[in-house]
Amino acid sequence: MSIFSRIIAREIPADIVFESDRVIAFRDIAPQAPVHLLVVPKTEEFANVAELAAGDPVLLAEIVATANDLAAEFSNGEYRLVFNSGESAGQTVFHVHAHVLSGALQEGTLAE
Ligand code: AMP
Repeated sequence: MSIFSRIIAREIPADIVFESDRVIAFRDIAPQAPVHLLVVPKTEEFANVAELAAGDPVLLAEIVATANDLAAEFSNGEYRLVFNSGESAGQTVFHVHAHVLSGALQEGTLAE
């Protein structure tokens, strides 16, 4: 079971900000922006965004819509949406998730 599935099952705590039938969102434990949320499908069937796009594009669209709504609720509605894909790109949890980063982002760079 992935660490995110354990959060969904309430086996480990998280600061959950949104939940629907198929999606959950919570604050990243190590925030890299003033607002840093993770939007995660409840299924752990898909390891990365390409698998999700191919396997369940409607669910991917729900992730994007949720990210947009949460950026409006928790910030000013403007945000960066990041899906790390692969270890060398920084992915550590192989249960697809979107990072929603908002508030005082550095301009001119996508990464540190
Ligand atoms: P990635 O590196 O793209 O796979 O993203 C994984 C993210 O999950 C990292 O930003 C971590 O800080 C975050 N993370 C890991 N464990 C937890 C947890 N228990 N609660 C909230 N966020 C977590």
